[in-house]
Amino acid sequence: MANKHNFDPDCIFCKIADGKIPCLKIYEDEDILAFLDISPSSKGHALVITKEHFANFLVVPHDLLAKAYEVAQKIGQAQVSQLGAKGCNIITNVNEIAGQSVKHFHIHVIPRYDPNDGLELNFKPKMIEKLNLPVLAEEIKKGL
Ligand code: AMP
Ligand code: ZN
Repeated sequence: MANKHNFDPDCIFCKIADGKIPCLKIYEDEDILAFLDISPSSKGHALVITKEHFANFLVVPHDLLAKAYEVAQKIGQAQVSQLGAKGCNIITNVNEIAGQSVKHFHIHVIPRYDPNDGLELNFKPKMIEKLNLPVLAEEIKKGL
C-alpha cells in the first residue's frame, strides 16, 4: 500500500486502510474501505474512505469518488433494510471550518431512526445579510 498509493504515515485512516490500526470493517474492495465510526452519532454510523490518502472531497479523482459514493449508497440501503433506519444523512466535511477532524477523505453515512434524536444536521443558514443570489450563481459558474 505504501508504495502503490498516496500514503501519509501520520494519518489514522491511512493506518486503518493499511491494516495497522483495527476497525470494524463492513466493506472492502481494491480502492474503498468502509467501517463503523468509533464515536457514532447513531446506531450503525459508518464511514466510507478511499484507501489512498486524499486530504478531502475536493481533491479526490472522479473514478474513486464515484466508487466511494456507490458504497455509501449501498450502506445507506443496508441501514434501512437491516437496521430499520427510516433514512440517513450522507455527509462529507471539507476542512476544519466545516468540521473535518480527520484529514483523509471520508463519507459519513449516518442512519436516522427518530425525528427527536437531537442530531443537529440542519444547515439552514441563519443569514443576517441579504444575499444577491443571481450574482452568487454567476460567481460559482465561473469556476466550473
Ligand atoms: P470528521 O469530523 O468529519 O473528520 O469525521 C471523523 C470521524 O472519524 C469522526 O466521526 C470520528 O469519530 C471518526 N474516527 C476517528 N478515529 C476513528 C477510528 N480509529 N475508527 C473509526 N472512526 C474513527
Ligand atoms: Zn490518510
